[in-house]
Amino acid sequence: NTRLDPDTDTGKIRVFCRIRPLNRAEGMKGSNFIVSCLDDYSVVLETPRGQREFQFDRIFNAESTQEEVFQDSSRLIQSAIDGYNVCIFAYGQTGSGKTFTMVGDKERKNPGIIPRTFTKIFDIIQENQSKFEFKVSAYMLELYNDRLQDLFVSPAEAFGKKIEIKKDKKGLVFAQGAETKEAASAGELFALFEQGCANRHIAATKMNMESSRSHLIVGIMVESRNLTNGSVSFGKISLVDLAGSERAARTGAKDDQLKEANSINKSLSALGDVISALSTEQPHVPYRNNKLTQAMQDSLGGNAKTLMFVNISPAACNMEETLTSLIYATRVK
Ligand code: ADP
Ligand code: MG
Repeated sequence: NTRLDPDTDTGKIRVFCRIRPLNRAEGMKGSNFIVSCLDDYSVVLETPRGQREFQFDRIFNAESTQEEVFQDSSRLIQSAIDGYNVCIFAYGQTGSGKTFTMVGDKERKNPGIIPRTFTKIFDIIQENQSKFEFKVSAYMLELYNDRLQDLFVSPAEAFGKKIEIKKDKKGLVFAQGAETKEAASAGELFALFEQGCANRHIAATKMNMESSRSHLIVGIMVESRNLTNGSVSFGKISLVDLAGSERAARTGAKDDQLKEANSINKSLSALGDVISALSTEQPHVPYRNNKLTQAMQDSLGGNAKTLMFVNISPAACNMEETLTSLIYATRVK
């Protein structure tokens, strides 16, 4: 059995697969369920060329709750506060449930990993306040057409700013030119995030662009100072909602859309290359090839703990994209 233990397997990437429920449109089309779970670790896809089985560290099905999905991430948040770099990201075609998994539903009634992370960070801080002093800060970026945008400032202000990914002395990635804001509570962190989402929405509307065509990157830094001996530790959590992985050809893209699709394909394949270099223990990991992998560099490999979600639709009409996503996600193994 090759399943990884999050407590010991740093530098490796664990992959969870989440199958969303059939949606109304698929239901009305009479699209069949073509995905089934054999157990908590194997998923089977029916294709016209026969069944394909894929293994993951965990499968979540259409009935799995946001709380169940967060359980494992919750342990990773503790690791980040203990000084590890942690990354949780979601991969999949548009409409497969990435944003539902990372952020939650649009009404904010059924929160996903990002808001739950905010709460968890400050719950842990509260429990340890007598022994440690904590400082929490965050940045929030969007990567669109190979351009990084600061989501903590208005779109008008963000447009003229050049953001560059740099590494500090501790090897932590930071976004030079972007705002890093401190938060003293989960509520404050959530308010910053909501402001960032609003800025992202305004920018997307202005450019007549779907926000699912850009990558969202949230970085949260946690500094803790031991009040007894004064020692300081740093941990970081990167939360990434990737752009939709669907192929350009399928969406019938032209001109601007094609440029957009090519830029997404390039960044996702750069991410795939980094992941596969790490999992096959290559001496050279090609982080520098793309801004996405540069931004995620401190949370992939090294002593980082990385959790990838591959989100898939269960419907027959999405079979090709689902197969492509499952193949991409198993490159990690
Ligand atoms: P993506 O971000 O991958 O484009 P979304 O997260 O926006 O996809 O999901 C598409 C739609 O399906 C949304 O309306 C979302 O609320 C719904 N959805 C996705 N996953 C689930 C789930 N596990 N349970 C219920 N609804 C879901
Ligand atoms: Mg989305």
